[in-house]
Amino acid sequence: MIQNYIFITGGVVSSLGKGITTASLAAVLEARNLNVTIIKLDPYINVDPGTMNPNQHGEVFVTEDGAETDLDLGHYERFISTKMSRRNNFTTGKIYSEVLYKERRGDYLGSTIQVIPHITNAIKENIIIGGKGYDVILVEVGGTVGDIESLPFLEAIRQMSVDIGRKHIMYIHLTLVPYIDTAAELKTKPTQHSVKELLSIGIQPDVIICRSSSTIPDNERAKISLFCNVPKKAIISIKDIDSIYKIPNMIKSQGLDGYICEFFELIAPEANLSQWDQVVYEESNPLGQVTVGVIGKYVALPDAYKSVIEALKHGGLKNRITVDIKLIDSQDIEVYGIELLNNLHAILIPGGFGIRGIDGKLKTIKYARENKIPYLGICLGMQLAIIEFARNVTGIKEANSTEFVLNCKSPVILAIKNLYSKYNKNNKLRGIMRLGTQLCKLSPNSKIRKIYNSDTIFERHRHRYEVNNLFLNKIESSGLKITGRSKNNKLVEVIEILDHPWFIACQFHPEFQSNPRYGHPLFMSFIKAAYEYQN
Ligand code: GLN
Repeated sequence: MIQNYIFITGGVVSSLGKGITTASLAAVLEARNLNVTIIKLDPYINVDPGTMNPNQHGEVFVTEDGAETDLDLGHYERFISTKMSRRNNFTTGKIYSEVLYKERRGDYLGSTIQVIPHITNAIKENIIIGGKGYDVILVEVGGTVGDIESLPFLEAIRQMSVDIGRKHIMYIHLTLVPYIDTAAELKTKPTQHSVKELLSIGIQPDVIICRSSSTIPDNERAKISLFCNVPKKAIISIKDIDSIYKIPNMIKSQGLDGYICEFFELIAPEANLSQWDQVVYEESNPLGQVTVGVIGKYVALPDAYKSVIEALKHGGLKNRITVDIKLIDSQDIEVYGIELLNNLHAILIPGGFGIRGIDGKLKTIKYARENKIPYLGICLGMQLAIIEFARNVTGIKEANSTEFVLNCKSPVILAIKNLYSKYNKNNKLRGIMRLGTQLCKLSPNSKIRKIYNSDTIFERHRHRYEVNNLFLNKIESSGLKITGRSKNNKLVEVIEILDHPWFIACQFHPEFQSNPRYGHPLFMSFIKAAYEYQN
């Protein structure tokens, strides 16, 4: 089977939307019936983003197989149907750990370990493993050309054109073409410099994607083509746009997918973007609007809740409702009170770690429960819903989680250490985490069973603490029901409050499986409930 690789590098500045662009291009290729996957190479030294602060790095995206990965993998899964796994994201740290492990084991038979060839070989091996079985493998190189950390990755992708053959390797460079207000001109010089930088390491781009505030006029495209040695039809303009769902169409209308097929000599039908047209239609023709509060602690960087925010929007799309999302810092609720929650039509408490902001979240849950505002609790949002209910309804005054008070008197949530010994065995710092997709059984006659329209579902996990079954009889008899359990019935996965129009919380993270084309049943139902609450 012939495999074709597209390497996407970034130039000039970061934050150009390389992840979304890569994902959108992959979506167009998939819409041509090609079997595509995407790999993200991250030049930082952390082995994975699992331990990185969400306020700095954004959310950790969890794959089906339980890898903690870069949030770009979330964009990939939202744009294409191929599922990501631990083979789709690797960092400098992961590559070095692998090489050093082999060195200690004696695999290199006494040779001196060097960036070239040992590190570059490991990078190439990982790319090849990640791409097995696909027609087209898009590889997004994190960072910007010129960064010290990216060099081994760029060297590895350069070598791949020699190893595999130039006609199966395409290099796409994504750059910024800034508009200078005072001169009223778009400037191509940074792009020229960035391409020069790439050339100096031996990579001639085949395609340049220019990000800019407005469409790049023909004469400027001609100029970039001339200076950068790239055919004019391969200079693609992606201007800032109100909706990311319009990008696949922007790519197709400039013929980039056709150019790629020609380049690789692939015979594939024209891209059918009807599903994306439908998404754009749903977004631009809303029938109503709701305001949903997301009460968290990493609100300074909305990317920290990327998948949650996207899933809420998808829930809106499928109901043709615009979702106005308000990110509220739970610590502000501690200081300024629940007035901050006025005018919300639904409340969501997402996942989180640590004690900071917990009181604000508990106040929020009490407010949603008592005022019958639709509430969706995810992971920590479920654990806290149980604590709040146990304290204020069941009367277990000191109900708590051992995450917040290690020796608390009534641990309704606690770490079950031995249960997960099979996860993260060698990982002292991370402790034991329940990670990745697991089966969940839903109770007959429950709301959640109706929402999913299935007795069993698969959802992804990322947490260390669990509900303590010892308190459940008491809590259930006061009106909170366990409506989802793990395969062996031991772990609580979903709770519902019966005397409430829509109060559902889950131990898993449904946001990771939501998609703009199909939505996600739980978020669709949640937004519908918000709309009903509003009216
Ligand atoms: N901190 C909680 C736990 O570890 C919840 C984690 C989460 O919300 N992802 O169980």
